Parts: sequence; C-alpha cells; structure tokens
Amino acid sequence: MTDETTAETLAPDWPTPTRDAAEAHLARVLPQLGARYAHNRNVDKGTGRHDAVSRLSPYLRRRMITEPGLIAAVLRAHGPETGERFLQEVLWRSYFKGWLERRPQVWQSYRDGLRADLAQLDRDSDLRRAVERAEAGQTDLDCMNAWAQELTDTGYLHNHARMWFASIWIFTLRLPWRLGADFFYRHLLDGDPASNMLSWRWVAGLHTRGKFYAAEAWNIAKFTDHRFSPDAADLAGVTEGLENQEPDGLPELQPLRTPVAPDAGVPTALLITEEDCRPDDFALGDLDIRARATLAASALRSPRPVGGKVVEFEAAALADTAQRITRKAENLQANDPAELARWATRAGARQIATPYVPEGPLRDWLNAAKPALDNAGVTLREWRRDWDAIVWPHATAGYFKVRKKLPELLHDAGLD
Ligand SMILES: Cc1cc2nc3c(=O)[nH]c(=O)nc-3n(C[C@H](O)[C@H](O)[C@H](O)COP(=O)(O)OP(=O)(O)OC[C@H]3O[C@@H](n4cnc5c(N)ncnc54)[C@H](O)[C@@H]3O)c2cc1C
Repeated sequence: MTDETTAETLAPDWPTPTRDAAEAHLARVLPQLGARYAHNRNVDKGTGRHDAVSRLSPYLRRRMITEPGLIAAVLRAHGPETGERFLQEVLWRSYFKGWLERRPQVWQSYRDGLRADLAQLDRDSDLRRAVERAEAGQTDLDCMNAWAQELTDTGYLHNHARMWFASIWIFTLRLPWRLGADFFYRHLLDGDPASNMLSWRWVAGLHTRGKFYAAEAWNIAKFTDHRFSPDAADLAGVTEGLENQEPDGLPELQPLRTPVAPDAGVPTALLITEEDCRPDDFALGDLDIRARATLAASALRSPRPVGGKVVEFEAAALADTAQRITRKAENLQANDPAELARWATRAGARQIATPYVPEGPLRDWLNAAKPALDNAGVTLREWRRDWDAIVWPHATAGYFKVRKKLPELLHDAGLD
C-alpha cells in the first residue's frame, strides 16, 4: 500500500502533481510558447528561472496533459508557423517513445548493461569515487557541480544543461554513460525511459551513428548567460562517439505491438499507472468495472534508490487521477508481479484494463506478471491513444524523418 502522500508534502516551488495544476500551468505559459520560445528556448538561466521553456514535462510524461491536447492549445494560441518550434520539441517525445517501441532490445540491453556497470562500481573503488563525486557535485567543473545539485534539489534540468551534462560525463569525465542515464532517471520528475535513455545514447553517438554531442566551453558560457565560463582546455575535445562499444550497430526493427482494447462484456479491474493519468479519456462507462487500483512503480526506475520527490510526485499524481474516477481505489506497489493477478482475482475480474504501457521498467514488470495472470485466466487489455498510433509507425530511423511529416501527422490527428 502507498503512503497517504499528497501534493502538500512537496516544496512550494515544485510543480503540483494534479491535473488542475497541470492545466493551470499550461494556461500560464501558453502565451510564451510561440516566438518567445523559439528565440529563447536554448538559454539555461538556472534554478528557478526557467521561464524561457515550458516546464511541462512532468505533466506530459504522465499524460496529465496529452500531446494532442497541448498541440491543439499551441496551434490555437500561435498558429502553425509561430508555434512550429515548440511543436517540433513536443514531437521529440512521441518520436523517442515510438522508436523504442520499434527497438525494445535497446531498452533490454540498457537494463542489463546498467546492472553490469553497477557491479563494476562495486569492484572498482576509483570508478565508484569518481561517480560519487560527479553525482554529489564535487568535480573540478563548477557547471557540472551546479547541474548535479539542481537535478537532485529540483528534479529538473533545462534541455541544454542535460546535453552539456551528459556530454561532459561521457567524454570529459569518461564515466559509463548508463550510470549517467541512471542518475538522471532516478532524479528527474519527468524521467522517461525512452526520452532519457535515448537522449543519452544520442549524446554518446549511439543513436545516430557518427553523430555525437560535444559540449563546448563557448556554448556553455553563451547559453548560460555567462553564469558558467569553463576553460576550453578543461573539456575534452571530442572526435568520435562511443560507436565502438556497440560494433554490431542497432538491432533490427520490430513490428509495433498491437494492444487489444478492453472488452465491454467482461468483468474488469481498472489499473491506473503513471504512464497515462487520463484513463477517463477512454470509454470507462462501457466497462463492467469491479475494482480500481493505482500502481506505484517509480522504484522500478533503477536498482538504486529513486529520489524521494520522484516517488512523491508519482503517488500524488496517481491519487489525483484515482479520485477523478472513483472514491474507492486500492493502492498497489509494483513489488511482486504475481500480486497483480491476485488483486484481479479477488475482485472477480477476468481482464485488467489500462492505458497502454510502453517499453520501460513498468512494461518489464507487467511482462513478469503475465505467467500469473495466465494461470488465473486474467487478460491484460490496453487502450492505445490515436496520437501514438499515428506517430509511432514513422519512428523507424532519425528524428528528422518524423519532423518532416509534422503537417501530415497533425492532419491525421485532426489537429490542422
Ligand atoms: C540527456 C538527456 C536526458 C533527457 N531525459 C529526459 C527525460 O527523462 N524525460 C523527458 O521528458 N525528457 C528528457 N529529455 C528531453 C528534454 O530535455 C526535456 O523533455 C525538457 O528539457 C523538459 O523541459 P520542458 O518541459 O521545459 O521543455 P520544453 O523546451 O518546454 O519542451 C516542451 C516539451 O517537449 C518535449 N521535449 C522537448 N525537448 C525534448 C527532447 N529533446 N526529447 C524529448 N522530448 C522533448 C518535452 O515533453 C517537453 O516538456 C532529456 C534530454 C537529454 C539531453
């Protein structure tokens, strides 16, 4: 069972984990998401001053606001040309999710590789100390120290800071990229398996072969408004990415998994996860719902302890979602996967209905729950959103292929 965590336990400068707060936040920042965003989005002004970007990611990641809902609002406020830059950024999220659906092996190799990296940390005390210093903000680079501090204090980093941090971690500090991705994932309020892991791979030169991201001193100084001015000599001159670590290249594209939607005639248990905090967008009224539960899964993000604020944010977001649907929801924890079947069986349900769970730790956990569900005669049924069904088939290669299709995607989604 989860604690009785509510939004009030989070510090006042943290985003409030409710749908109302998400919508109010969107209404507040919407006027800035046109020309102002396009001109200023690359500037990282530092903790508490990120008004050049939307800071919507903790809400978008949990679909407290959906991508099409946000896109429609931006189009209404700014039109397709002035709003284009922002829409292109939102599309990165959909692209990365779709890309990982097409190559789930990349998630599996990250997960296995991370375990190997953590075992290496146990054996290699120099490496362990170097990682501890980087995470604690005790390197020789002020900028890295400030970003590590901001990440652990606030659960947020500006996109540019994420790129610089990842690049310096990999190429200057020469630390294993998966440990850096894990550090981010344990602390980011918007932590997302696809966006986080694939962004780290992109910086490392593993996502688009031959293309890596090198943090440069002048760029950091310029886009932090000279809050930081690292010495160019202190940053590695990067000439190649980590392609050699994966000599076989990318695994083959897989067909998209095609979920089966819940069946109206079957006794149902409704499962609410942070993958989609708007299950009420689907036709719940058509179902014979016998039980409802939230499933807290933040702890699955890493074998290491996940930041307390991440756990709190998830718990409060799930509580907010549940109370929109029902007065009575159980609080499940993603511990023993077999518990899922026991919960459904106790309720007399023959199917579990939930919005689609994409590749990542929760998908792994649901896969682990399948044998017990099969034994109990309970099927897992998922709704997939139209937006995902429209974008994901195109996420087969680089992002720019998808970006070129933006007008077509908006048209297919009825958003033009
Ligand atoms: C190393 C690294 C790790 C990252 N890890 C995550 C993560 O775990 N979760 C996450 O949501 N984003 C991640 N990002 C992407 C991006 O940095 C954040 O989405 C963005 O900074 C969130 O802040 P915002 O809402 O103010 O962004 P805005 O600039 O206001 O963008 C609006 C929205 O567009 C989407 N978006 C923008 N840029 C990207 C991007 N490059 N990739 C994917 N979506 C994007 C986000 O949903 C964001 O909320 C990562 C980027 C890097 C370089």
